[in-house]
Amino acid sequence: MLHYTMSSLQNIKGKPSPAGTSQPGKSGCSQLGENPMRHNDLPWQLLKKFNNRLSVVPANLTLLNDTHTSIPKLRSGRVGGQFWAAYVPCDTQNKDAVKRTLEQIDVIHRMCDKYPEAFVCVTNSTGIEDAFQAKKVASLIGVEGGHSMDSSLGTLRMFYRLGVRYMTLSHSCNTPWVDNWLVDTDEEQPVHNGLSQFGKRVVWEMNRLGMLVDLAHVSVRTMADALEVSKAPVIFSHSSAYELCRSRRNVPDDILRRVNETGGLVMVNFYNMYVSCNKEAANLSQVADHLDHVKKVAGSAAVGFGGDYDGVPTLPQGLEDVSKYPELIAELLRRKWTEAEVKAALAMNLLRVFKKAEEVRDSLSQEPPDDEPIAYEELEGQCRTSYGYPARAKASTPSVLSAALIIPLLYSLLL
Ligand SMILES: [Zn+2]
Repeated sequence: MLHYTMSSLQNIKGKPSPAGTSQPGKSGCSQLGENPMRHNDLPWQLLKKFNNRLSVVPANLTLLNDTHTSIPKLRSGRVGGQFWAAYVPCDTQNKDAVKRTLEQIDVIHRMCDKYPEAFVCVTNSTGIEDAFQAKKVASLIGVEGGHSMDSSLGTLRMFYRLGVRYMTLSHSCNTPWVDNWLVDTDEEQPVHNGLSQFGKRVVWEMNRLGMLVDLAHVSVRTMADALEVSKAPVIFSHSSAYELCRSRRNVPDDILRRVNETGGLVMVNFYNMYVSCNKEAANLSQVADHLDHVKKVAGSAAVGFGGDYDGVPTLPQGLEDVSKYPELIAELLRRKWTEAEVKAALAMNLLRVFKKAEEVRDSLSQEPPDDEPIAYEELEGQCRTSYGYPARAKASTPSVLSAALIIPLLYSLLL
């Protein structure tokens, strides 16, 4: 979401104009400002560095200088919107994933409250547009990984009520209902071959709520299943093109074509490993190659910027932090992207998908919530109660055991 105007784009063709010098809305030109909701992991940095204490002096987002993201850098990059990731790692699965995810959602809300001049937390397409008009960073929340909901549709619904507007179906681990991208490498074995029946119901419930289905980090079979099942267009919040860098975190061409057919969006990841497949070296031009490729195969309506700032250890030369976005825009314009195409990639594609998800939600407003819990047997983890499940979930083992003991005992008495 950059604060661009047509005239500032003209400046970018030469060199980026300094932040704040553009004059959005002047001369009747429509704004290019509604820039893409990019995936950003600053909340994860806030947890790691400060245990989410925004009150400590070094956590001041205006002064922060060892992260890819800060308020001054967002301003320099003319960033008008972010999907802040409520991310917790896979090792929280079946432990404290839900609690920690809630805490990441909380720190995002507190960011919005503490810096109201910079951020505004929004939950719908109108809110995004209003935030842009107000020259604030439209702040949305994405939960990065299905393990965060602990296989609970009730938890998913509560995430929605707390403002979560996308969920990545998996991070880098399988859950009891979905396979992740590592099953396409030799690091993990497939368990569900995509989405399980319950996983399909998760997607359906997300459609009913109006929460975007994010397919970054999932296996190719999961991508295909979700594209088949979802009534709303899907997004890849931070994934690049497999054809250009053969990492399984990237999106293969046949899936890109399905994204084209279904009106979805692929927001390109900037991590060196997914851009050049070389952790140590990548450059801005190679990121532009990925954007070109997604545009060529999935269409200009399917391209977006995924970033992944503060979620990755290395970034391409020329795109070191969030202030560098204008350099990438300049490169796309040099490559003869039209202003309409740039505008679409910056914001309009995401807004379109967001509005479509809201339409699907509205069309399903008469449908009741899915209140059938996952089967107890499908759950994992040792420290779990079984309240609400039939008694056999707890009692079957002892009763079978006692029968097994009693019958031989009777025999021994009879004989
Ligand atoms: Zn990620």
